[in-house]
Amino acid sequence: KLHNTILELKGNIRVFCRVRPLLFDDAAAEDEPNMVSFPTTTENLGRGIELLQHGQKHSFVFDKVFVPESSQEEVFVEVSQLVQSALDGYKVCIFAYGQTGSGKTHTMMGTPGNDDDKGLIPRSLEQIFESKQTLQNQGWKYEMQVSMLEIYNETIRDLLITNRPGSTELRTKQYGIKHDANGNTHVSDLTVVDVRSSREVSFLLNRAAQSRSVGMTQMNEQSSRSHFVFTLRITGVNESTEQQVHGVLNLIDLAGSERLSKSGSTGDRLKETQAINKSLSSLSDVIFALAKKEEHIPFRNSKLTYLLQPCLGGDSKTLMVVNVSPAPSSVNESLCSLRFAARVN
Ligand code: ADP
Ligand code: MG
Repeated sequence: KLHNTILELKGNIRVFCRVRPLLFDDAAAEDEPNMVSFPTTTENLGRGIELLQHGQKHSFVFDKVFVPESSQEEVFVEVSQLVQSALDGYKVCIFAYGQTGSGKTHTMMGTPGNDDDKGLIPRSLEQIFESKQTLQNQGWKYEMQVSMLEIYNETIRDLLITNRPGSTELRTKQYGIKHDANGNTHVSDLTVVDVRSSREVSFLLNRAAQSRSVGMTQMNEQSSRSHFVFTLRITGVNESTEQQVHGVLNLIDLAGSERLSKSGSTGDRLKETQAINKSLSSLSDVIFALAKKEEHIPFRNSKLTYLLQPCLGGDSKTLMVVNVSPAPSSVNESLCSLRFAARVN
C-alpha cells in the first residue's frame, strides 16, 4: 500500500448522514415544526442530528452529517480521500442507504444534465482518471475495468449487456459468484469493460441506466426495488519498482429501505419485499459483525454481501451514506434509517 490515509487511523467503517432539502411535494403544513434539526453545540458540530417524532426527540451522532444545504461538492470533499485509496490498492465500498425518495440516487449520480449537481460516481471517476494521469509521471501504469449490475429479488442482472433484448434467456442466466485466492470476485458471464477515461464510463452509466429493472409502472419504482452496484477495478503497476496494486471501488445505490408491509403485498410484490428486507438486514449484520470484529461474518446470507465479501472484510474501507428525508410524513422511516445507521456506526 502506498499511502496511509487518515481513514486508516479511524478504523475502516464510516457512516455519514445526509438530509435532503424539503421538496415541494413534501407538502409540510405551515404550522408543523421542523422534524429534523442539527445541534449547534461545538461538541458534535457537523456530526449530530436530531429527529422529532410524536413530540419526542431522538439524537444521533455520525462521522459526518450533511445538512439540506450541503452541496454535492461538499459531500465529495469528504469522500475523495476514500476514493483515492482505491488507487493505492484498497478495496472500497460506498453505499447509499435510505427510503425511496430520500436522495440516494441524487447523492450517487446527481441530476442528469446538470453538471454542477453531479454525484459521487461521476466525481469519483473524474478524480481517479485525473490522478491516473499524474501518477503516470511517477512510473505508474493503470488499467481500469468497469462492470455494472443490479440485484433484484436475489438475482444478478448484468446492466452492460449490449442489445439487451429482455429475453428470458439473459434474465435467467445464473451469474454465479466466485471469489479467488487473491480476493477478487468473479461473476460468471458478467460484462466487464476496459475503460480509459471518465467519459467512457459516463457512456456506460447511461447504458446501464436504460437497462435497469423494468416491469414497474412508475418511474422511480423501477430502480427503487433493486440494488445498483457499480464496480471499478484498478490494476496498477510501477514500471521502475515493479510494485503492483489491485484496488476496487464499489459504489452502491441500495434498494429503498422503506418497511414494506408484508400483509399488504402478495405474489411478486411480496417476493420483492422479502428479498429487499433480507439483503438490507444482512448488509447491516455483516457491517455490524465487522465493526465488532466478530469471528463469524455472515456474508453468505444475501447475494449483495456475498458479492461484496472481498471488499468488506480485511483492510477494505466501507462508507455508508444514510439519506434522510425531512418530510413530516417520512418521520417514521427516517427514524428507522437513523437507527439502522447508528447500529452500523
Ligand atoms: P432515491 O434515489 O433515494 O429514491 P432521489 O435521489 O431520486 O431519491 O431523490 C428524490 C428527489 O429529491 C429527486 O427529485 C431529487 O432530485 C431530490 N433530491 C434528493 N436529494 C437532494 C438534494 N440534496 N438537493 C436537492 N434535491 C435533492
Ligand atoms: Mg433512486
